Amino acid sequence: DVQTFDVIVLGAGAAGMMAAIRAGRRGRRVVVLDHARAPGEKIRISGGGRCNFTNIHAGPKNYLSANPHFARSALARYTPQDFLALVEAHGIAWHEKTLGQLFCDTSAKDIITMLLKEMKASGVVLKLGVTVDAVSNGAGGFVVETSEGRMTTESLVVATGGKSIPKMGATGFAYRIAAQFGLEMVEPRPGLVPLTLDPAMLEELAPMAGVAVDAEVRHGKTGFREAVLVTHRGLSGPSILQISSYWREGDEIAVRVLPEIDLADVLKAAKRDNGRQAVQTVLAQHLPKRLAQYFAEKHRLERPLADTADKALDALARQMSDWRIKPAGSEGYRTAEVTLGGVDTAGLDQKTMAAKSVPGLYFIGECVDVTGWLGGYNFQWAWASGHAAGENA
Ligand code: FAD
Repeated sequence: DVQTFDVIVLGAGAAGMMAAIRAGRRGRRVVVLDHARAPGEKIRISGGGRCNFTNIHAGPKNYLSANPHFARSALARYTPQDFLALVEAHGIAWHEKTLGQLFCDTSAKDIITMLLKEMKASGVVLKLGVTVDAVSNGAGGFVVETSEGRMTTESLVVATGGKSIPKMGATGFAYRIAAQFGLEMVEPRPGLVPLTLDPAMLEELAPMAGVAVDAEVRHGKTGFREAVLVTHRGLSGPSILQISSYWREGDEIAVRVLPEIDLADVLKAAKRDNGRQAVQTVLAQHLPKRLAQYFAEKHRLERPLADTADKALDALARQMSDWRIKPAGSEGYRTAEVTLGGVDTAGLDQKTMAAKSVPGLYFIGECVDVTGWLGGYNFQWAWASGHAAGENA
């Protein structure tokens, strides 16, 4: 026996639930299918358990895509303020942490509860622990073969996410559906991911494992200024995660330590004021001690400032403002917060997220080749693209 719906959404993540809510509000009979035992698992673990649910500054410039303009329409139709209004309507307390990043005061679970309530109010049926075995497309619409039997639908919304964190059930399923229906792909790769170092560099930085420093990290013309964290595997922290989405195997990154200070001036002034100080002592006024020691030793500046030539101080300052590092690789999908690339936007309608060549088939959220920066941008894309599809499916 066949169950018939107007809309089947595959994936009860951020994007899928939003699409279901909007379609349900329009009176469509909607079912959401997910193989996981609980909905919104990535929401639950996001933002350190507090969910950085949007960024008030979100705009197309905060996203990577082969077509940087594609996201514009959906982002303009469903804004961070729209999502915030929903959060407030549900009485969820929130705060801005930094750089426009909005977090729940209490728990990311509040966002999941909100979405579940909204789905219920929209008459959406949610089926968990369901596997999807096959999808086909005929005269009467789509046929979805599942572990709960055959289902048919006019509109099929694919919202199964990317490949990041396979441990949590990420599968790359959306890419298989896209391929089956002849859509092009942009090669997926891990994004917002810690970078690894070769053994020699790891050993060199080993004494600094656990040290965080404010820095600007650049790759070509792109730069981010947040914290860099040295780990026992390599480099992490927000600046590194941000730049990892732009970095490619074999490339260098440039780290500017203490971006707001003219370090050469600071060192020379210290030399004038008190020449008996060690270079590392002056550095340690601005940097974690272990890092100060590392730079002083690397430049063999172990003598008092008075005995150190200005030229040597200039060289140190120069290196610290343009510290070139060649990462060996990234930690990969195991720890990547997102998947770059995905279903090529060239095959999708930017207003509705529908496949141009397959009426009724939609792709939303992370499986699409639109990937946000760190800081709430990825959820905003999930909400906005989900909204766009839900208004249409
Ligand atoms: P997902 O949320 O991944 O949902 C996909 C759903 O599809 C899942 O429920 C999955 O079980 C289901 N599914 C997959 N394959 C199948 C299949 N074959 N059959 C049936 N169901 C399937 N972004 C932010 O903006 N702010 C943050 O604070 C933030 N923190 C993060 C922290 C971590 C640790 C991680 C990993 C990511 C974080 N992100 C954050 C990114 C954000 O979680 C994702 O961009 C977002 O969840 C993507 O939403 P989605 O609905 O497209 O996919």
